[in-house]
Amino acid sequence: MPYSYEAPVSQTLFDRASLVTPGGVNSPVRAFRAVGGTPRFMVSGTGPYLTDADGREYVDLVCSWGPMILGHSHPEVIAAVQAAVARGTSFGTPGQGEVELAEEIVGRIEPVEQVRLVSSGTEATMSAIRLARGFTGRAKVIKFAGCYHGHVDALLAAAGSGLATFALPDTPGVTGAQAGDTVVLPYNDLEAVRAAFAAHPGEIACVITEASPGNMGVVPPKDGFNAGLKEICAANGALFISDEVMTGFRTSRAGWYGVDGVKPDLMTFGKVMGGGFPAAAFGGRADVMAHLAPAGPVYQAGTLSGNPVATAAGLAQLRLLDGAAYEKVNAVSAQIQGLVTDALSKEGVAHRLQTASNMFSVFFTEDEVMNYDDAKRQESFRFTAFFHSMLSNGVYLPPSAFESWFVSTAHDERAVEKIAGALPAAARAAAEATA
Ligand SMILES: *Cc1c(COP(=O)(O)O)cnc(C)c1O
Repeated sequence: MPYSYEAPVSQTLFDRASLVTPGGVNSPVRAFRAVGGTPRFMVSGTGPYLTDADGREYVDLVCSWGPMILGHSHPEVIAAVQAAVARGTSFGTPGQGEVELAEEIVGRIEPVEQVRLVSSGTEATMSAIRLARGFTGRAKVIKFAGCYHGHVDALLAAAGSGLATFALPDTPGVTGAQAGDTVVLPYNDLEAVRAAFAAHPGEIACVITEASPGNMGVVPPKDGFNAGLKEICAANGALFISDEVMTGFRTSRAGWYGVDGVKPDLMTFGKVMGGGFPAAAFGGRADVMAHLAPAGPVYQAGTLSGNPVATAAGLAQLRLLDGAAYEKVNAVSAQIQGLVTDALSKEGVAHRLQTASNMFSVFFTEDEVMNYDDAKRQESFRFTAFFHSMLSNGVYLPPSAFESWFVSTAHDERAVEKIAGALPAAARAAAEATA
């Protein structure tokens, strides 16, 4: 595909990176493999904008894959981080910031009676699964195709996004033993869950699901799906784990739990709660969490867990996320959603815009997307054309058709106008694209 714009400094950096780092990136989807072209090396961010190494400015609709819900370089978050850094960066002891961040999480999300801080969403889900197995004394885990729970060995089966992008059904390096206790089922299909419990009586430790999936594009749960999972788990002595690493503190003050009210046994968090730093968490029922070391026998630890700089950033961000902030994010999200739909409709491009609160994504298909197979049926070559047209006109979208788009409280009228200005040409490019 011909790119009508250049990024020479990014290209030079990418060439250097490719010599010293596999694929030139530290997380696969950043490499633009799904859409082609040169990944942009960003040097700074302010509010809704990113500036790349070539000095071009973009409206950012990735927001670091969710965390930057207040926009980049929010002055109060930066000030909290600077104050924390000045006090020292890591002590390897408990600290007040961890207590306050844990209290903030417990205060917001009723099912979380106790919480343990970690450094990444991957660690959170890995630890939650270990705890569920330790608590129940059972081995098997149910997950859904297209749901991504980080790069946990046992959960890297039909795991959406990065893997969807690369069309890898699985990954080398995960042994049969590691994945052998994982049962992968189609999303939004309670009958499949009932059948799996019937096939493995007394063996299933937990069901883990994205609270509302955003890693195969946005595919919200059908009415009653999460409640059904909870009920089936409870009836069979298994734990229901809701992965809110993406939705937590984003889709509402209390994440997706605040939207659907289904009470999980365990929950996982990351992204928004770190304020742009590595901070994540898992938590839930106090009687389950009591099995975690040093209170109980299930081991879990981390040198940088509850890091004082990361907790200061997360705490500052969460304290700014009040009702008004969510109203603002939801409103600007709805506005952008409307613009995208209008532009694509005007060019007659078959598409479906799906939403989960202020998370949304576009599937290039006419049909409703209920699961991963549906998502894969879209015409993703149209996304490629759409993406590059938007990029060349200064709008930075996720570089894959299988990702949620993210907005922030900082996306103002000027940012929306820039998106509106870029959309007609992108919609035309999508209409004219060929496979
Ligand atoms: C991002 C994500 C993870 C993994 O978090 P990392 O911090 O990248 O390890 C896990 N679950 C969900 C739902 C996510 O979106």
